[in-house]
Amino acid sequence: MKDILQKQGFKVIAAGAFLAEHSIFPSVGAGRPDGQDKEAMAGFAAECRKILEKGNFQQYGEIEVPGEAGYDAASFKGVPLKPSGDKTCIKCRKCADICPKKAISPENPCKTDSELCISCGACIHVCPVGARNYRGIIYKTAEAQFKKKCSEYRFPETYFVSKYDGII
Ligand code: SF4
Ligand code: SF4
Repeated sequence: MKDILQKQGFKVIAAGAFLAEHSIFPSVGAGRPDGQDKEAMAGFAAECRKILEKGNFQQYGEIEVPGEAGYDAASFKGVPLKPSGDKTCIKCRKCADICPKKAISPENPCKTDSELCISCGACIHVCPVGARNYRGIIYKTAEAQFKKKCSEYRFPETYFVSKYDGII
């Protein structure tokens, strides 16, 4: 995100990694953001405000954040897991309406166009009867592996350009 913004001429003064429920494996990160997260978000916003109030952002050096440089979002082909509906579907079409990629046909809302779907999970959350979800052995296996790898409680991480320069 920092790289994308900088390429567009923005001056990045702060960055934060906050946790939320995972969109594909909701048991990972369930209940997040929690009280501690919200406190951290409020602190992050307050710190950003201090920097913004100082103004003259060009005086700050480049912010340092962890992660691999050169991440190419355009070449990411997406995850192979796509949700579908089951026989409990009542054909309300809420999933088709909310889908940002129009991957669900209003005439047959149980089906998903896997070429269009970006696995965002919006259709699962909007379904009033819980008819849409990820399914199959590949999903169950991936979920078990993912849960094992990501079960540890992680705290939010924040980064401020000014802290490196000792400005605030
Ligand atoms: S996961 Fe997102 S993109 Fe895929 S069908 Fe559901 S709403 Fe559409
Ligand atoms: S939101 Fe659920 S019940 Fe409504 S059409 Fe989609 S799958 Fe069926």
